[in-house]
Amino acid sequence: MLDEYANAEVLWERFGFDNGAFEDSLRALGFHIPAAVGSNYFHTILSLPSLLNAAHVHRAAEELPEGVADPALVDRLLDRSRVAAYLKARGYRYVFFPSLWWKSTRSAPLADSVVQVWPGFHPVRAASRTEFRRVVQEGSVLRYLTRRGPLDADHLRRTLGAFEELPSVEGPVFAFAHVLSPHSPYVLDPECGVPTGVAAAHRKEGYIGQLRCLNTMLLDVVTRLLRESDVAPVILLQGDHGTSTLRYSESPSADRVPADASRERFGAFGAYYLPDSGEVAFGDTVTVVNVLGNVLRHYLGADLPREPDDRYLSLEGSAYDFHRAIEPPPGDTARASSPRRLRRGT
Ligand SMILES: [Zn+2]
Repeated sequence: MLDEYANAEVLWERFGFDNGAFEDSLRALGFHIPAAVGSNYFHTILSLPSLLNAAHVHRAAEELPEGVADPALVDRLLDRSRVAAYLKARGYRYVFFPSLWWKSTRSAPLADSVVQVWPGFHPVRAASRTEFRRVVQEGSVLRYLTRRGPLDADHLRRTLGAFEELPSVEGPVFAFAHVLSPHSPYVLDPECGVPTGVAAAHRKEGYIGQLRCLNTMLLDVVTRLLRESDVAPVILLQGDHGTSTLRYSESPSADRVPADASRERFGAFGAYYLPDSGEVAFGDTVTVVNVLGNVLRHYLGADLPREPDDRYLSLEGSAYDFHRAIEPPPGDTARASSPRRLRRGT
C-alpha cells in the first residue's frame, strides 16, 4: 500500500501532472489499471484495514461511543487481517514489511516473517521509527547527528529492495508493505536525490517529485518480480486515499465537504498485475475494499461476498464520525478533464 498515492485524474486536476508515462509502462508489463479506482475512506486508519480485511470497517467503528477515536480499533482490525488469516490457512507464508513510523503497521502478529531492513541497532534510526519519537527527535540534539530525510529515503529503498528478493522464498507467499510514500516528508526528488530549493519548500512540488522517484523504484521492483518469479505473481499497487490540496478536513462537518475536495481525497491510485485473466474480476471500477476480495474470489474461489463500493467521509480528528457519500461511486463521475480522456479524444 502506497500512502497518499493519488490516481491519474487527481494528479492531473490538482497538480497538473500527467502520470500517463508510468501507467503506460505498467500496462506494457501487463498491469491492469481500471478506468476508475478509489478508496472508500479518507484516512489511512480506515482504508488499510478495509484492504486487509476485504471488508468495510465503518460498522465496527460505529459501535464506538460517540466522539471516541479509538486507535486500538484499527490495530485490532489490522492484527486480525481476515485476508492474511485466509491465506495462511491455505499454506501461504505471510511476509510483512513494517512501515518506518506509522505505528499500526510497525508490526503484524499474524506474520510468519517480519522483514527488518535495518539490521542491528542505530540510535538515530530507532528514533525515527514512531511518530512520537519523531517529534522528540526534531526537538532534540539527535537532529544534529543526521537529518531525518536520508533515513526515510534509505528505509524506502531498502524495503523495496527487500521486496525484490521475494521470488527466492520457497512456496506460496502473501507479502504486504505499507510504504509511507509519496506521503510527506518529501525526501526524494524526481531523480531520487535529496530535494532542494522549491521542491523542498513547496508541498505540491515536493509531492510530485517524490512520486516520480517512487515510480522509477516501483518499475524496477515489479520488473524484477515478474522476471524472477517461477509462478506468475499477483502484484497489487494500491494507494490508501488521494491527496488533500483542497483541504477537505477544514469543512465544518463530514456532510459539508465540497464535492471536488471529496473526489480528490477518495481518488486513490491502483494498478494490478493479474495473471490468468484476473482483470475480469476487477473490471473498470474498483474500490480499495474489494481489491483483495477480488483476488481471493478469482484465484482461490473464496466464498467471500463482494462489498458495496460505498464511500464514507469523515474529518481528521473525528475519523469515526461518518457521512456516507451520496454522489455516485468513482466509475460514474465525469472525468472530462483527465489526461487519459483528452488523449482519447485526439
Ligand atoms: Zn494514508
